[in-house]
Amino acid sequence: MIVTRFAPSPTGRLHLGSAFSALFAYEAARREDGKFLLRIEDIDPLRCKPEFIDAIFEDLRWLSLDWPEPVRRQAEHMDDYAAALETLRAKGVVYPCFCTRKEIIAEAAEASHAPHLSVHGPDGPVYPGTCRNLSADERAEKLAEGPANWRLAVEKAGALAGPLFWHDRARGKIEANPQDFGDVVIARKDVPTSYHLSVTVDDHLQGITLVTRGEDLLRATDIHRLLQALLGYETPDYHHHPLLKGEDGKRFAKRDQAATLQALRASGKTAEEVRRMAGF
Ligand code: GLU
Repeated sequence: MIVTRFAPSPTGRLHLGSAFSALFAYEAARREDGKFLLRIEDIDPLRCKPEFIDAIFEDLRWLSLDWPEPVRRQAEHMDDYAAALETLRAKGVVYPCFCTRKEIIAEAAEASHAPHLSVHGPDGPVYPGTCRNLSADERAEKLAEGPANWRLAVEKAGALAGPLFWHDRARGKIEANPQDFGDVVIARKDVPTSYHLSVTVDDHLQGITLVTRGEDLLRATDIHRLLQALLGYETPDYHHHPLLKGEDGKRFAKRDQAATLQALRASGKTAEEVRRMAGF
């Protein structure tokens, strides 16, 4: 049976673009008599607010979506992510990184003798790898001083996993190139997980068979595919959809107050009309 999910981060009110994403997942499941799950991605305590979680439930119910309870909230499952991180540690494919953001920029500039030449990946500057080659003693010493960011050694992990592919319903077979990102942070100093790790673990634990999400996350799937291989998970099918754009041709953002479902509702729009505005 097909299982899809909508996985918003409660960092603001849902807007028309997120309604499109939710309906996309919901309808994909409904068309094939499958199951639609809702998941709250609230690992970031600074950006996520409980009132936005309630607002997500309210807005989606208003759109006539339903989902099985209990809803998985990532903040309640840090143990699952810690266990996955431990598996990665045991495989020797993660390492602690003690660099500050400032140091990384300075190191990258020095490495290339010109900041504009530093390597850029799909997600911004690529980590120059400074902490990858610390000795075991140096690591232990620095870890004793406090928590660190944990980075995925992508080259090593990729060599271990071998060539990897995934399937997108709109694009066909895609080869994963996670090394383009460099050694991404997989668990943060302040939050012992990351978007990449928790989304991969949860899609596995929740038995998601079709991941639908915006095409802004297309390349992130390369990293998720690598994590699946390292953690021994099955790979779901994917469908990265275009982002819904406003009349100005721009994608909706959290700051677009007028496009929130709350504002649309207050302006007198019915749920039916909003579904239609989102193309459903
Ligand atoms: N939580 C992510 C977001 O709100 C989406 C994650 C996903 O669908 O993989 O952008």
